[in-house]
Amino acid sequence: MIPHILIVEDEDALATLLDYNLVREGFRVERVADGEEGLMRVEEETPDLLVLDWMLPKVSGVEVCRRLRQRPETRRTPILMLTARGEEADKVRGLDTGADDYLVKPFAMNELVARIRALLRRSRPELVEERLEYADIVLDRASHRVSRGGADIHLGPTEYRLLDFLMQRPGRVFSRERLLDAVWGANTYVEARTVDVHVGRLRKALRQPGAPDLIRTVRSAGYALDERV
Ligand code: CA
Repeated sequence: MIPHILIVEDEDALATLLDYNLVREGFRVERVADGEEGLMRVEEETPDLLVLDWMLPKVSGVEVCRRLRQRPETRRTPILMLTARGEEADKVRGLDTGADDYLVKPFAMNELVARIRALLRRSRPELVEERLEYADIVLDRASHRVSRGGADIHLGPTEYRLLDFLMQRPGRVFSRERLLDAVWGANTYVEARTVDVHVGRLRKALRQPGAPDLIRTVRSAGYALDERV
């Protein structure tokens, strides 16, 4: 699975920046702009981690945090709280809100990404392994590089996420719909045929003289990464 992060932040410019940077880091990102919407969204689909602003319209970040901690499904979901000032950070520490970590605005994006990875490493280690290997393919999440048989492979962002997902469960066949959910997100309106286009691009990028095609097409079922093609 690609880690799914929900951003609850009402400052549009910051939310956009977070969204952009986290997607670039290979996460699946969703964003909402108030606490009420945040709670509703979590109820529909539990994310792997929340980035939660302290001051939010309708329901505050602290209250969102408390309510999530009361539910068994979200009791252990990592929450990274964003605060505007040091004094809010003091409260986050003192109030026992249940947040796992916090950052005071403004913060550096690489600091945020490092904290997110640290939280995920604790809660879902399989999601944040730095290096995936299958057959002669290596995908290095830390440097975002892919190689086959030692030669660099250049992939677009969608093909990269697709390969990351397939490499987590080699041999298993995924339907187009399942790949859409995992790579594009459950709420995107993309046609299943789009998956075929990107699988085609990935296959082409991985092609090397004399090396087998590792992507298996299973008629009417979907696709798998498989050495026994
Ligand atoms: Ca705010």
